[in-house]
Amino acid sequence: MTLDELRQTAAILDRDDPLAQYRDHFHIPRRRDGRAVTYLCGHSLGLPPRAAAASVHRELQAWAELGVEGHFQSARPWVSFHELFTPHLAQLVGAEAHEVVAMNTLTVNLHLMLTSFYRPTSVRRKILVGHAAFPSDRYAIAAQIALRGWQPEDTLLVAQPRPGEATLRTEDVVDLIDRHAHELHLVLMDGVNYYTGEFLDIATITAAAHRHGILAGFDLAHAAGNVPLALHAWGVDFAVWCHYKYLNGGPGCVAGCFVHERHGLARDPLPRLAGWWGHEKSSRFAMGPDFVPIPGAEGWQLSNPPLFSLAALLPSLELFSEIGMVKLRAKSEQLTGLLDRAFRALLPEAVNILTPPEPARRGCQLSVRLTHNAKSIFHALLAAGVICDWREPDVIRLAPVPLYNRFADVVRCVEVLTCAQ
Ligand SMILES: *Cc1c(COP(=O)(O)O)cnc(C)c1O
Repeated sequence: MTLDELRQTAAILDRDDPLAQYRDHFHIPRRRDGRAVTYLCGHSLGLPPRAAAASVHRELQAWAELGVEGHFQSARPWVSFHELFTPHLAQLVGAEAHEVVAMNTLTVNLHLMLTSFYRPTSVRRKILVGHAAFPSDRYAIAAQIALRGWQPEDTLLVAQPRPGEATLRTEDVVDLIDRHAHELHLVLMDGVNYYTGEFLDIATITAAAHRHGILAGFDLAHAAGNVPLALHAWGVDFAVWCHYKYLNGGPGCVAGCFVHERHGLARDPLPRLAGWWGHEKSSRFAMGPDFVPIPGAEGWQLSNPPLFSLAALLPSLELFSEIGMVKLRAKSEQLTGLLDRAFRALLPEAVNILTPPEPARRGCQLSVRLTHNAKSIFHALLAAGVICDWREPDVIRLAPVPLYNRFADVVRCVEVLTCAQ
């Protein structure tokens, strides 16, 4: 492949792209000279849907016109506003309606889930995590271990790639679970890892854990809205994710949570950190002292939710439901596949791709080690309006997102990288 051939291929793919029109549903940031940037940073903060402002404005207006009556009288009553998310989230992560809820933020939801699901015995108390777990997750897990009176150092088990490899092999994770089954209580891994972009085999890892009576939870911060998920069918016990990365809900947006019905609808409700919004809806406003949880994931809610954040998120989730993950994934594989092929053909010396090459083992992100002058090349990308991010010591992460990126964005990134060498 030459640079010219890349340009021609991309032009044809853009021309024939059935999702091309969706780019116009988003605001694309502009450079000082007015040209749109090449935004490859949807893994960190998705772009705003044009419809988000109107959705927030509607509720500001309802507040101005109705005051407290907005809880029940608004066209989208606030008291049940979070229920508008149920069908979208169920479709997005492959769940039953009563297994999902939009609430809190990601790390908070992780703590809520660990409080309910991490109830170890002194023998089976270890938690298996991945090699490149996100710091916030590590802090939360270590804090939960410490709260139970143990040392994180001898309670965590960390799955590592083989020497010379950058990502985990499923069979190695399964082998680790088998070997440590007698002391493991919980497997808590990423769906897609933030650093390497690897997409773990959630179904196989969950089945391996369950064979030994070990619970399996997943952080889907980089998986939700990026790869197809079937949490209910895979039997995952619980999962959490945020909505501001691939799901475009805006900075600090309300997060998501999944609790499998075998736990959420269990006759004896799991212990939890309770709050009034998780209380049975019919008697919530009777204001009695005894907590009766709503059956399902909604029973883990604490507070009435930040409404303007939910309002900003809804238009993006409606787009995901309208298009569906199957079509998004098809374009995503093409986009990321083109970037991968172009790097291998045109920049074989300069670029070392950490993310697995098989489409089934990654989402849209490529994590790339720059072999020479990494920092200055990263700055050259930014100066040329190619927005990506930097991870020490020499890695950039690029995410062509099928909802608003074009194949031309892949070309632009490769052109700038070629010139910067
Ligand atoms: C983005 C991300 C977070 C961030 O957590 P917040 O509570 O939303 O600030 C945590 N964990 C993972 C794996 C992430 O990718």
